[in-house]
Amino acid sequence: MRRRFIAPIALVLAVSLAGCSGGNSADNVVQPTDDLSQENLNDPSTPDPDQEAAAATCKEAKEVSGRAPRIVTTVAPITNLVALMVSGTSIEVDGIVPEGTNSHTFEPPPSAASVLERADVIFVNGLGLEDPTLELARANAKNSVVCELGTAILPKGSWIFDFSFPMDGGKPNPHVWTSPFLVLGYLNIIRDAAAALDPSSMEIIDANYIKLSRIAMDLDEAVKTASATIAPANRKLLTYHDAYAYFADRYGYEVVGAIQPQSFEEPSPKEIANLIDQVKKEGVVAVFGSEVFPSPVLEQIGKEAGVRYVDTLRDDDLLGKPGDPEHSWAALMRSNYITMVTALGGDAAALKAIKSDIGLVDKAFYPQ
Ligand SMILES: [Zn+2]
Repeated sequence: MRRRFIAPIALVLAVSLAGCSGGNSADNVVQPTDDLSQENLNDPSTPDPDQEAAAATCKEAKEVSGRAPRIVTTVAPITNLVALMVSGTSIEVDGIVPEGTNSHTFEPPPSAASVLERADVIFVNGLGLEDPTLELARANAKNSVVCELGTAILPKGSWIFDFSFPMDGGKPNPHVWTSPFLVLGYLNIIRDAAAALDPSSMEIIDANYIKLSRIAMDLDEAVKTASATIAPANRKLLTYHDAYAYFADRYGYEVVGAIQPQSFEEPSPKEIANLIDQVKKEGVVAVFGSEVFPSPVLEQIGKEAGVRYVDTLRDDDLLGKPGDPEHSWAALMRSNYITMVTALGGDAAALKAIKSDIGLVDKAFYPQ
């Protein structure tokens, strides 16, 4: 039963990683790739020793006996994936980054040190997203396994650099979890670590893994189907926060720009004027803001360029409240991509047909 599901997931993931474009340093445009082409099947990415080391570290989790194993996570989408993976087991999950805060600039409070210290496994997104939290973990949590999910699944050849995450800054775009397809790689690592912590719950964890993988694959298919209904010329993304680079790469969108500068401050008047020109020139049909980063600037750009402004995307702030069925990674992806496809003139029926509630209970602690 188990192998039947795992093999295809590993295969499609390997194909996808070989096809990621990465390396867009020249400007703010992320080129989409045809990542399932036959050539790419024969084009494995260059081995990356740092990625291999990160993946090996994630495998260091050991069985915990005599007490409940403890996992600490950072951003809410990852907290939810981990919590659903261990649903029905005694493994405890504590998130650290409060929802609605800027995860890119988040500094953990000193009280987080003791939470990290008690953890058996600490899952972070990695790829430079949570450096202050990692630093605190490395200083205080000497006996915890620190697993950087994004760093462990993406070799450097697949990193995407762009407008907000330029190559000379050294940190790639970290938003891997906005690609349902790449999340399959996160799920493999989370499953293995959870099963290592609590081998007696292996069957429960495997059953949860199958449900989670299936919703990720269903979302992947639905995004493909729904995106295909958008006129190709309209598949252009101008977002406030630059969170959709890996999404765009997989599903054939062009990231025309991200408004929020690398410093996470407001753009200058000159930058705004340039963006308005760009929106007009590229024929962008909608610009997207987010509830986490409310932006009068984006509204102004939409108004002056005469295009629709949609302000409801979120990259790491889940819908609803902890305990609500829609407070999940899958519901967030479904909602974001319905919003995106509809605003760009497509038909989001395939996404609307997805049931994001997969019947697993999330008992993680989410700081608010
Ligand atoms: Zn972000």
